[in-house]
Amino acid sequence: MTPPELEFLKSLTVLYVEDDPDIHARLDFFLKRHVGVLLVAHDGAEGARVWEERQPDIVITDILMPTMDGLAMTRQIRERDEEIPIIVTTAYSDEEFFIRSIDLGIDRYVLKPTDPATLHRALTHCARSLWRRREKETADRYVRFVLDIQPSPLLVTGKGQLEYINRAFLNYLGFPSREDFLASGIALESLMQTRTGLPLSGDGEAGGWIGSLLKAAREDPILFLRRPDQEDPLPIPFAITGNALPELEKHIFSFADVTHLEKEKQELEEKAFTDALTGICNRARLQVILNTELRRAHRHDLPLSVVMCDIDHFKKINDVYGHQAGDDVLRQMVGIMRVNLRAEDLLARWGGEEFMVVSPQSDLESTRLLAEKLRALVEKSHFPAVGQITCSFGVAEREPGDTIRILTERADKALYAAKTGGRNRVELQTRA
Ligand code: GH3
Ligand code: MG
Ligand code: MG
Repeated sequence: MTPPELEFLKSLTVLYVEDDPDIHARLDFFLKRHVGVLLVAHDGAEGARVWEERQPDIVITDILMPTMDGLAMTRQIRERDEEIPIIVTTAYSDEEFFIRSIDLGIDRYVLKPTDPATLHRALTHCARSLWRRREKETADRYVRFVLDIQPSPLLVTGKGQLEYINRAFLNYLGFPSREDFLASGIALESLMQTRTGLPLSGDGEAGGWIGSLLKAAREDPILFLRRPDQEDPLPIPFAITGNALPELEKHIFSFADVTHLEKEKQELEEKAFTDALTGICNRARLQVILNTELRRAHRHDLPLSVVMCDIDHFKKINDVYGHQAGDDVLRQMVGIMRVNLRAEDLLARWGGEEFMVVSPQSDLESTRLLAEKLRALVEKSHFPAVGQITCSFGVAEREPGDTIRILTERADKALYAAKTGGRNRVELQTRA
């Protein structure tokens, strides 16, 4: 079986430049049998012209020729095509000539008088490297094709550099082509940020931004990607997967848009933190917020107060008017309290018919006034389902070293005092 490069040689176009008609006569016939198309020229100028017109795959050239010599022609071709294999047939064997020709990137030398077998070996050598290059180009094109038809943005990195960015990624970034993206000079990593809003660190991390990307893929694979054309960027969340090809020192990163999942997650969180009946914060959310507020107040030594509120004889309301009417009262209560609070106050359902107000930067006295205002408002309000109702209130202010539990226990005790003291009243914590 013929080796593929010999078959391949038979498909190639070869330009043979030689001024000596005798040599042409001897070698043309030989060459025609081994190559696809043989183009001939008789001096450098003609050779350069034929090269220009026909773009052969391989050039064979003599050196000493009239009009333009072989080296001048080679230089002219090399300026335009760095890759084309060039074989030189030469009678020279002096050092100076070889040094000059090395600079021109000549692939093979065949000494004159030219032996057809030697020339054939040189051609086979050139055909082999062309064959390999084309095989590689075909493989590369195939890989790029596969990457480009993927719907997800993909990146290929090699030896610490960005090697390929696929079409989906370019589309996302708003670039019509890879060339446009490269010309923009945008560093891809500058468009990526972590969940906390920090940039994907490049400098500090071992392995630069690619190292950071790998770490993110391993540890917390959600990254937010900004589009460069966005003035006020709304980054989109992507789940990153990193795959290593260690033998090629390459990594492939895929970016899956998880906007819908993040949205669902937010909605679930929202649900988990909201009281279904009244739409205000539930106790779980209150704990989180109160925790933050209490720490802040401790740190800056600021006042912080809480109000515990409980509807009086609510059980009776349910018993007399039904549970549905009780629910309506709870919703209406929230409506009344809500509009009478400051923006920085937090209203939450503590449980059952109990509510809590967290009032940052308010001391005991001003919070007592707030509770008193709420008490009077409830007392005055008409509840269509049940008529009049009243509430009892217990107020407590932060003291150094308070935990949430200790603070709320004091408010609860004050509320208990309001209940035992006759209901429909506000009681303050008793200080230890
Ligand atoms: P007090 O004045 O001492 O607070 O008496 P109360 O009847 O309000 O207190 P108690 O704790 O004995 O009863 C609270 C009632 O609240 C019992 C429960 O059925 C009712 N309740 C708790 N959650 C809800 C709710 O979501 N909807 C309705 N309709 N009732 C609820
Ligand atoms: Mg009650
Ligand atoms: Mg109660």
